[in-house]
Amino acid sequence: MSREVRVRFAPSPTGPLHIGGVRTALYNYLFAKQNGGKMILRIEDTDQTRFVPGAEDYIIEALTWLGIQFDEGVHIGGPFGPYRQSDRKPMYKQYADQLIRDGWAYYAFDHPDELEAKRKEYEAQKKTFQYDCNTRGMMQNSLSLSEDEVKQRLNNGEPYVVRFKFPADTEITVHDLIRGDVTMNSNLLDDKVLFKSDGMPTYHLANIVDDHTMEISHVIRGEEWLPSAPLHVMLYRAFGWEETMPQFAHLPLLLKPEGNGKLSKRDGDRLGFPVFPLDWHDPKSGEISSGYRERGYFPEAVVNILALLGWNPGKREGDNGANPVYQEILSMNDLIKLFNISHISKSGAKFNVEKAKWFNHEYMQMHSDEDIAAMFQPILDSHNVKADHDYVVKVCGMMKERINFISEMWDTTSYFFVAPTEYDPAAIKKRWKAGMTTHMAKVIEILNTVPFEYDAIHKALLDDYIVGNQLNMGQVMNSLRLAVVGKTVGPDMLTLVMMLGKDETIRRVQRAIDTIGEVEN
Ligand code: GLU
Repeated sequence: MSREVRVRFAPSPTGPLHIGGVRTALYNYLFAKQNGGKMILRIEDTDQTRFVPGAEDYIIEALTWLGIQFDEGVHIGGPFGPYRQSDRKPMYKQYADQLIRDGWAYYAFDHPDELEAKRKEYEAQKKTFQYDCNTRGMMQNSLSLSEDEVKQRLNNGEPYVVRFKFPADTEITVHDLIRGDVTMNSNLLDDKVLFKSDGMPTYHLANIVDDHTMEISHVIRGEEWLPSAPLHVMLYRAFGWEETMPQFAHLPLLLKPEGNGKLSKRDGDRLGFPVFPLDWHDPKSGEISSGYRERGYFPEAVVNILALLGWNPGKREGDNGANPVYQEILSMNDLIKLFNISHISKSGAKFNVEKAKWFNHEYMQMHSDEDIAAMFQPILDSHNVKADHDYVVKVCGMMKERINFISEMWDTTSYFFVAPTEYDPAAIKKRWKAGMTTHMAKVIEILNTVPFEYDAIHKALLDDYIVGNQLNMGQVMNSLRLAVVGKTVGPDMLTLVMMLGKDETIRRVQRAIDTIGEVEN
């Protein structure tokens, strides 16, 4: 019987969730959905010194915003709970005890100062100290001390840690679904701390115990955990859980746009893009880090961008190989259908800011004009603009093609709502030549006399007046634009006139005549 797919996203609540972490959550989600499996949210908060208030809520809010849903987790419960490691604390000691009993772990009493002194001593000899099979014999632990002494120290309540006892010179192979077999010799590995006398497990012990007891089938996580994987494989062996050990997939890093090094918050600040899904207010420093949501990214665009950072769906269906371009716009449902671990790349994925904006632009076009108008309305309110809803919808439909973010809509469309009060001096110089006030007065006359219809105005103004009198089309029409918009941008001129209406257009043209006036040449 094949095993039910159960994957987990297991963040530590140490701050805002980096987009690399969001991508990990997304890949887990896609994999779970594709296989009809379960997605679990587990909070790994064993390191209380790094705990940051608000981080857990932030993680949940961010993933909810992106449409990454969980079947079980800290916020919704489930049959394998509790899902927060600090709430599971009482269950870990028995597992540490089991490892000690079976000879896979030992008590170590070394004081932090002693360890520090050892490190210094090694450093002085240009060596690095590692607590391992070669050094453990000279340290204060249950392998080097007599049984009685160990008992006494434990009875006296002396602080201790439990360390994993790596067997000497053993090849440990991690089978990784992305990288294949990764083998490491145990001599290179240190005897990691698994448990502390305050009753708290470390990440390594809690992670393995939880993955096992929560019946996790696949561990999909960042590449930074690959060096820990040999220890994890050994822990499964030590517990006798090898048969149900999850399969591992270690995801490539998200790299700086230049391609060298891991993408950091500083890169985001430097290059003007967020590395967090939502704004984050640091409770200690008060510093605010910006998020995709507040920057105006659509959640579907962020999902699409992240999905393609380190994975692609392969070439398009029906492609004979001549055009190995894959489909880029992919919805969550498309991704669930197409996702496969074998297409995840081994090398890091470079973040591309311009491409991210392009994705948002594409998703903007897919949103209905109504939707965009609803998103734009608060911005209009903030400018005290009272506009008819249908009019706003129409403006959004006409102009969404020109923007990447809703926040750009006001700058791009303000003249649809408020008349210009200033006119671009460079455009005046270039377009508003001698005789222009007469031509503009003629525009007003035409608007006042011909039916207010596109074709009728086109014929009277462009064909009969401008062409008929051999006037410079660019000069007159751009001056009209200057009068109506304030600068020489915007959609088709007569479409704009039709949108603004006769009276408003006439008012604007008259104001330009009065403000700019007649010029010499
Ligand atoms: N708590 C670890 C983290 O913060 C999880 C690593 C894992 O998925 O095993 O990334």
